[in-house]
This record gives sequence, C-alpha cells and structure tokens, in this order.
Amino acid sequence: MNERTIFHEIISGEVNSKVVYRDHLVTAFEDIRPKSPVHILIVPNKYIKNLNSIKDTENQKVLLGHMIFICSKIAKIKKIQDTGYRLVMNCNKDAGQEIDYLHIHLVGGKPLGSFLEMKK
Ligand code: 5GP
Repeated sequence: MNERTIFHEIISGEVNSKVVYRDHLVTAFEDIRPKSPVHILIVPNKYIKNLNSIKDTENQKVLLGHMIFICSKIAKIKKIQDTGYRLVMNCNKDAGQEIDYLHIHLVGGKPLGSFLEMKK
C-alpha cells in the first residue's frame, strides 16, 4: 500500500519546505521542528516506508549509499563538516519513527552529547 505522508507532499511541492538540496534520487529539506541549529531531512524521491522495506536490489542499495553521500555534501554546504554532525535513521515505533517515509536526519551545529546515553 502506498501510504500518503507529509513527505510525499513536500517532495511533490504541494507543501512548502526549505529545500537545501535536490537531485534525481533524493530531496533534502529543513526539519520543521529542528533539534539543533542544523537539522536536515534527506528523503528518497520515490516512496520507501522505512529500512525494513528496502529490497535486495542494486538500485535500492545504491540509493542508501547515495543518501549517506549526500549527507556529507550537505554537511559541507552547511559548513559543519569540521565541527561535526550526526546521522540518525529511525525505524518503527521503538525508535520513535513519526513519518512513515524513509529519511535520514542530519543534525549538527552544536555539541550533540553522547548518543549512547540512553535509558534502559
Ligand atoms: P521521525 O521521527 O519520523 O524520524 O522524524 C520525522 C521528522 O519530520 C521530525 O523531526 C519532524 O519534526 C519532521 N516533520 C514532521 N512534519 C514535517 C513537516 O511538515 N515539514 C518538515 N519540514 N518537517 C516535518
């Protein structure tokens, strides 16, 4: 089933967002509720629900690599490549995935603390 999400509407241009990068595979835009001074979402142009939905095909594996590569480009565009940044990908409810459309969060622009300080 092709669920319609807000990210579908952002990618199609029906809903406004601050797009920082776009190519034939991905669109990257500012998160509406940023958790850090830089908070960009990198989203495939073609719908994929989450990491569980990735197929064992060359196209989809290339896409995943491309998404991460584009994060490194955006980090340079945002000039946080030297200070540092973090990539986060949530999958399903224990990770708190809110939008059922595959995406990477690129966060940075301030010290982010230890990712591993999480409660049991
Ligand atoms: P998730 O929890 O699914 O990994 O992250 C979804 C992200 O999408 C959240 O950080 C949330 O702030 C962001 N978001 C939700 N709705 C919108 C929207 O309408 N526009 C933008 N730009 N970001 C959104």
